[in-house]
Amino acid sequence: MSDPTAKAPAAAKAPAAAKAPTVAVVGTGVIGAMTAWRLALRGARVLAFDMYAPGHDRGASAGETRIFRTIYKEGGQYVPLLRRARELWDELERTSGRRVLTGTGCLTVGRPDDPDVRAVLDCAAEYELPHETFDAREMRDRYPQHAVDDDEIGVLDPQGGVLRPEVGVQAALARAAEAGAEILPYHRVREVERHPGGWRVRAGERWFDADWLVLAPGPWAGRTPLLADIPVHAELITACWFAAREPETVAPRAFPVGIRRHVEAGFSFFPCVDGVSVKVIPHHLERPEVDTPDALPRSRDAEFTRAAAEAVRRLLPALVPHPIRIGTYSDGFTPDHNAALGPIPGQDDALVLTGFSGHGYKLAPVFGELAAELVLDGANPRFDISYLDPSRFTASRATTAAAAR
Ligand SMILES: Cc1cc2nc3c(=O)[nH]c(=O)nc-3n(C[C@H](O)[C@H](O)[C@H](O)COP(=O)(O)OP(=O)(O)OC[C@H]3O[C@@H](n4cnc5c(N)ncnc54)[C@H](O)[C@@H]3O)c2cc1C
Repeated sequence: MSDPTAKAPAAAKAPAAAKAPTVAVVGTGVIGAMTAWRLALRGARVLAFDMYAPGHDRGASAGETRIFRTIYKEGGQYVPLLRRARELWDELERTSGRRVLTGTGCLTVGRPDDPDVRAVLDCAAEYELPHETFDAREMRDRYPQHAVDDDEIGVLDPQGGVLRPEVGVQAALARAAEAGAEILPYHRVREVERHPGGWRVRAGERWFDADWLVLAPGPWAGRTPLLADIPVHAELITACWFAAREPETVAPRAFPVGIRRHVEAGFSFFPCVDGVSVKVIPHHLERPEVDTPDALPRSRDAEFTRAAAEAVRRLLPALVPHPIRIGTYSDGFTPDHNAALGPIPGQDDALVLTGFSGHGYKLAPVFGELAAELVLDGANPRFDISYLDPSRFTASRATTAAAAR
C-alpha cells in the first residue's frame, strides 16, 4: 500500500547564514543523543547537556534491551517512521562499528480478539507487512518456551529485533562528538533565558549561548524550563530478570523478543543477552506515577515480585519463576500516549521532544532526524508528524478554558 504520511524529502536548503547555528540540546537520553548526532552530521554546532552520564539508569534509555518491531499496534502512521528508523539504526551500526540491533523477529502472543493482537494483525494487513501467524499447536512446536492456551495464536514480525539501549546512546553520542558536538555530562540545565537572537542556558555553574534550544528531558519534562504547559508525567516501569532453565533455548537465535497478552497477565519479553536470564516487563501490574525520576524507588515490594513471578510460572515454562534481578526505570507519558515533538508553543527557535510513552526507543533515530530537519530546514520535515505537535495539548486547553468562560 502507498504510504499516506510520507512526503517528498524536503529539498536541502542553502544555509540562511554563513555561520552554522549553535544548538543547545538538553538531555542525552536516546532522543537527545540521536538529535545531537543528526544535527552535528549536518554541520550544526551542538552543545549536548545531561545532568547525569550518558546511558544512566534513572530515565528511559537503559535496562539492557528494547523491542524493535515494524508491525505497529500503536498505529499505522508510525510505519514509515519505523522504516526510516531501521535505516538509521543500520547507519549508526555501520559508522560506529557497534552492534545495536539484533534481528530476532518480534512475536505477539495472545487471543486473536485481544485488542493488541487484533491491532497487530490489522496493521500487517493494511500496510502489507510480512508476518507469519501460528495457531496454538504450531506455537507449541515452534516456541515451546511459551505456554499457550488452545484459543491463542502467535504473530511473528520477522523484521523485529532486540536493541541494546545503552550501546545505542553511546554510539550516537560518539558519532556526534566525532562530527564536532560538545557532550557535557553532569551539567543540569537549571534556567534558560532569551537574549537577542537566541538563548542563554545555565548548566552546571556556567552560562552558554545558543541560537536554538532543543529540550529532550524525557520523564523530567515536568521540571524543565518552558514546558509547564506540556502534560507529561513520569511513570515507574519495572523490569524483572528470571533465570533460564537452559539458556541456549532462550538465546536471541531461538527466542524472539515480543509481547504476551493473556487474560491473567501481560508482559514484554526479551531473549537472553547475559548468558543467564530473560527479562520480563509486566504490563498488567501497577505502573505508579513518580514525582521525579531523581527519586526513583530502586526496587519493588514482595507483592509486585510475587505477581510477576506468578505470570512467568503460568506463561513462560522455560524460566525459573523467581526473579534474580529487578530494575526500575521511568518514561514520560502524555495523555494520548503519542510524544510531544515539535516547536514549543509560543517559541520560534525552541523544540521539545518528550513523552515517548513507553515506545520511543526504537524510533529515536528518526525522531532525532526530524528534530534536525525542524531546526535546520524549518517546518517541513520529511514525514507528516502533525499528530505529535505539542500545540495539540495547549490548543485543547485553550478551547476548554474558552468553553468554560
Ligand atoms: C523499562 C522501559 C522499557 C521500555 N521498552 C521499550 C521498548 O521495548 N521499545 C521501545 O521502543 N521503547 C521502549 N521504552 C520507551 C523508550 O525507552 C523511551 O521512550 C525512550 O528511551 C525515551 O528517551 P528520552 O531520551 O526521551 O528520555 P531519557 O532517556 O530519560 O533521557 C532524558 C535525559 O534528559 C536528562 N535531563 C532531564 N532534565 C535535564 C536537565 N534539566 N538538565 C540536563 N539534563 C536533563 C536526563 O538526565 C536524561 O538523561 C521503554 C522504556 C522503559 C523505561
